[in-house]
Amino acid sequence: MEQGFVLAIHGGAGVMPRADMTPERAEACHAALARVLRAGEDVLAAGGVALDAVTAAVTALEDEPLFNAGRGAVFTRGGTQEMDAAIMDGRDRRAGAVAGIAGVRNPVHLARAVMDHTSHVMMIGEGALAVARDANLTFEDDAYFFTQERWDSLRETLRMQAEGTLDDDPSRRHGTVGAVARDRAGNLAAATSTGGMTAKRAGRVGDSPLIGAGTFADSATCAVSATGDGEAFIRLSVAHEIDARIRLAGTPMEQAARQVVMSGLAAIGGSGGLIAVAADGSLALPFNCEGMYRGWSIEGESAQTAIY
Ligand code: ASP
Repeated sequence: MEQGFVLAIHGGAGVMPRADMTPERAEACHAALARVLRAGEDVLAAGGVALDAVTAAVTALEDEPLFNAGRGAVFTRGGTQEMDAAIMDGRDRRAGAVAGIAGVRNPVHLARAVMDHTSHVMMIGEGALAVARDANLTFEDDAYFFTQERWDSLRETLRMQAEGTLDDDPSRRHGTVGAVARDRAGNLAAATSTGGMTAKRAGRVGDSPLIGAGTFADSATCAVSATGDGEAFIRLSVAHEIDARIRLAGTPMEQAARQVVMSGLAAIGGSGGLIAVAADGSLALPFNCEGMYRGWSIEGESAQTAIY
């Protein structure tokens, strides 16, 4: 039976503290989120599948320099950019992921190429880049990915670390982008992409590309894309934990997502949030920090965007 489509996106839990947010910046973020929603909605409204909708939405998010993924990714402490991305198809649990890559314009395309063109799920390094070249993906030079704001955040973070005055400002520390969708046929999919955490060590991998931590989809239960302190999300297997509570305990998705973010994560000091859609089309966008750039669209209703 055909049902209405549902789409949710996030631009990360690394929001600017409310006190520092200018009306112009907030407006730019809302406009960017609305553009991204339209990219995903166009696919779903044309009868496309959830997998293609989350690919389109995350591509648009990666192209937005305001968010920490693709263009505008944060810097490692060595001044390089290392990106992680994953995608999962809830129809059959096929998945693709890449970690620590640089140079590919849209890391989510490479995650999808790993899923579509190899027998592997997760790839890194030169081997991952060879898959990108074989799939004719677009490469960009360092100047394309650079933003002054992220560079200044790195210098500021390193200075504060050296002085022992490092605070917890999420806008300086992190960010991520992601999308979850249910198409008209009821299929679910999820995708996530990130530059990781500012001043991370080279080689550090967060939760975003790990299936079951920052990204997960099974059309029988839920699709999830997370953002926040990656180490805590990995330790809790956040996305899989939500799936397990729905599948094994019969917990409604919204409740399961809320429990994991508000109780489980908070208990180990993990700050962040996630977006999730359930098989019945219900949505959850919980976060345990000041805000999370987010937007959602339910077929037949007007799309919404929010920051705090
Ligand atoms: N979860 C991401 C990571 O740990 C960062 C974030 O979402 O802020 O790489």
